[in-house]
Amino acid sequence: MSDTAYRLTIGDFNCIIFNDGYLVDHVENFGLNCIYIEAGGHKILIDNGCGENFREKTAGHLLKSMKTAGLKPGDIDTIIFDHGHIDHVCGTFDKNGNPVFSNARYIVTKKEWDYIKSPPGANKTQNEFYYHARKYLIPMEERFVLVDADYQVLPGIKMRPAFGHTKGNVMVDLMSQGQRLLCIGDVIHSRREFADPACLAAFDVTPSEAIKTRAKILDEAAQTGVFVFACHFTFPGLGYIRQTKDMFSWEPI
Ligand SMILES: [Zn+2]
Repeated sequence: MSDTAYRLTIGDFNCIIFNDGYLVDHVENFGLNCIYIEAGGHKILIDNGCGENFREKTAGHLLKSMKTAGLKPGDIDTIIFDHGHIDHVCGTFDKNGNPVFSNARYIVTKKEWDYIKSPPGANKTQNEFYYHARKYLIPMEERFVLVDADYQVLPGIKMRPAFGHTKGNVMVDLMSQGQRLLCIGDVIHSRREFADPACLAAFDVTPSEAIKTRAKILDEAAQTGVFVFACHFTFPGLGYIRQTKDMFSWEPI
């Protein structure tokens, strides 16, 4: 398996998981995976990683990974943000703050955009996580399409509310020709959250809501056996959530 680009199809959708690198934490390293989808003549990315602005050494490799698949940033016409945190939006601009994806429109929930536009609050971690979105995305507002959390981007590409990690956080459900991939974004960051859903609560804007959402999605994924894509699991972040008794586990592909 290539460690930069992993191809798969979901019905008629041609998808590639791109490796943006990883984030080093004191307990574990978090993967950084972005999914690219070709659907209905559109070239779509969900999130664009860390870019040149955040932890350059281990992250920000999306463009290099895209190049190995013959894709340039100008090819992308749509970028969906599942939320506005630093490790999901910083690929939008280069070191100097100039837009990287010259032809892309951006889709984000109105709820998330309102939070980005609100002044920083008392939570220092979240202020840090939103610093770049506030500084660089707000001036690009005309490129943004603001939508409800329950929104069909294209037939078979549906945003779904998954609030708690952030105010307007979403998942993206891909469905084509009877096949499905549930892109859970940051609803679950780590397998550690299977046993202890609050262990990374510092990452969540409203932890109590995030924990409820996490439990609900773990349950849904285990019950339905849906194919799952997780941003922060080891590349390519694809697999299944299993449940035996009340223990969840991850079965990577
Ligand atoms: Zn994240």
